[in-house]
Amino acid sequence: MPKILDGAAIAAAIKLEVAEEVRALAAQGIRPGLAAVLVGNVAASEIYVRSKVQACAELGLLSDLITPPDTVTTEEMLSLVAALNARDDIDGILIQLPLPSQVDAKLLLDAIAPEKDVDGFHPINAGRLQAGRPALAPCTPAGVIEILKRSDIPIAGQHAVVVGRSDIVGKPAAMLLLNQNATVTICHSKTRNLAELTRQADILVAAIGRPGFITPEMVKPGATLIDVGINRLNTREEFDRFFHGNAKREAAFAKRGSVIVGDIHPQAFELASAYTPVPGGVGLLTIAMLMANTVRAAKLRRGL
Ligand code: NDP
Repeated sequence: MPKILDGAAIAAAIKLEVAEEVRALAAQGIRPGLAAVLVGNVAASEIYVRSKVQACAELGLLSDLITPPDTVTTEEMLSLVAALNARDDIDGILIQLPLPSQVDAKLLLDAIAPEKDVDGFHPINAGRLQAGRPALAPCTPAGVIEILKRSDIPIAGQHAVVVGRSDIVGKPAAMLLLNQNATVTICHSKTRNLAELTRQADILVAAIGRPGFITPEMVKPGATLIDVGINRLNTREEFDRFFHGNAKREAAFAKRGSVIVGDIHPQAFELASAYTPVPGGVGLLTIAMLMANTVRAAKLRRGL
């Protein structure tokens, strides 16, 4: 039986450690602070940001939720970022994406002070990560490494194949795995003979954004499968493609009218030695890593 890598348990352990660090910093008169900027009324973004603010409260971090209207301009957002860069009580700045089309997201993300860039999206942090220097790494891929380490899955010397090369998941995941001495192959939509490469993976990371894209034939038996994908299945036809006859998922589908599936086909998990489920895997680490990054930023900024 493959081992299920339980994202909830790992996230809870990380949060406990973060809360402990926050208490230790409080003894020195320091309270790490996160500014969360939520523009407009995108329902999904509101849910994400509110969970982040709630996590701050649970762990003892300061949080400031700033909600500009969806008519905000790039210039107004740039002045907001400049003000947050200058605030001493703020260690981390998070701008929830997506932003309205009139706002130049790249310009804005580049304007965040790299030492407060707790999402790890700033080119300076990407460069530091590549150069093996202390950096704030993007939360989701950092969570992938935590899952592997805390589950005692060896990384050094293993062949890690990452499918996906986005700046927020695939590329930093590959760089973090390389920094942990894995032999890394990065695949993307132009990769030829993808299945040949994925079948060589001891650790296969899927960050594609396509439901069940990695099928059993693409997986080496005994591999560790890390599924970053979050895809919603809304129709009966889509549901049946992945979960036909699965009573638990059937109940969830009946209740909510949709279910989530990752980028790895559920049948492929049966071949693995260990895997992250969806939901309940990588997705749960992201907020915990954001909290960890905010505390790290607070310490780095003070030279601790
Ligand atoms: P992007 O769309 O930015 O990147 C997708 C990547 O997959 C691209 O590099 C693309 O290649 C590659 N790709 C697409 N089609 C194929 C194909 N047929 N064969 C091989 N590679 C392919 O997505 P993200 O990286 O932002 O997200 C990936 C997944 O992870 C999504 O499901 C997303 O919802 C999820 N996610 C989960 C998070 C969490 O758990 N908290 C956080 C962020 C994302 P190319 O570059 O050539 O176009």
